[in-house]
Amino acid sequence: MISFADQSAVVVGAGAGIGRSAAGLLARLGAAVTCVDRDAAAAAEAADEIRAAGGRALAATADVTDPAAVRAAFGAAAGEFGPIHAAVNCAGITGQTGIPSHEVSLDDFAHVHRVNVHGAMVVSQVALGHMLPNGYGRIVHVASISGKDGNPNMVAYSSSKAALIGMVKVQGKEYAQRGITVNAIAPAVIRTDMVAALPDDVVAYMVSKIPMGRTGELDEAAAMIAFVASSACSFTTGFTFDLTGGRATY
Ligand code: NAD
Repeated sequence: MISFADQSAVVVGAGAGIGRSAAGLLARLGAAVTCVDRDAAAAAEAADEIRAAGGRALAATADVTDPAAVRAAFGAAAGEFGPIHAAVNCAGITGQTGIPSHEVSLDDFAHVHRVNVHGAMVVSQVALGHMLPNGYGRIVHVASISGKDGNPNMVAYSSSKAALIGMVKVQGKEYAQRGITVNAIAPAVIRTDMVAALPDDVVAYMVSKIPMGRTGELDEAAAMIAFVASSACSFTTGFTFDLTGGRATY
């Protein structure tokens, strides 16, 4: 049911973690995948991995906070593979964590919002520019359970993901009659480098909140992204899909 045959997908933040895993799965399901990351070497590695497995891939370097670079990356994707059917935005940072709000650096707060919210807005805008003329598109952002629940001592991250969830609700409604869906997924802890870099007590807190009592796996995140980015996900937009092992039941 889920196939990306004859489709082109752009995965932003494809250099590592959830994005890397999603890019690989979309390619295995038939998509030509443009792997975009601010880390040029990581983007190239992700694309090489797909090609080595027999898939079609292109690498592009862009920081999501730089609209011109993101436009260039999507332009390269369209130049190589034609119309873009799916855009998956996995670029995101936690910023400083383990710090209560009254001690948080406002510079760090602004930086996290710049990447996680402003950057997501850039990806949506650029993707929409490609998808609107075609009357078809799937945009998927990666939010977080922290955007729904509010993880203590992660105010910059949690509030940025809440803003992202709000943006997706708006854009889902705006393009609902134009053939384009805009959704997010909200994972709890998925085992990636980003999580490995967090303090143990922050990770332990997050796992303790998960009824399944474990972290999520990259394959599980990729599978959900693949569904939401596919034509099979056709009657849901503006929604944030849960990926929390039972933590969020709303
Ligand atoms: P990761 O650090 O393993 O990978 C993130 C990738 O995005 C990296 O390749 C990085 O270079 C790239 N990136 C970061 N900032 C960028 C920027 N400004 N422009 C372009 N590329 C950029 O992280 P991950 O754990 O795979 O997380 C991916 C997304 O999932 C993030 O939005 C994160 O907030 C979200 N998320 C992760 C978890 C988790 O437990 N891992 C949970 C909830 C949400």
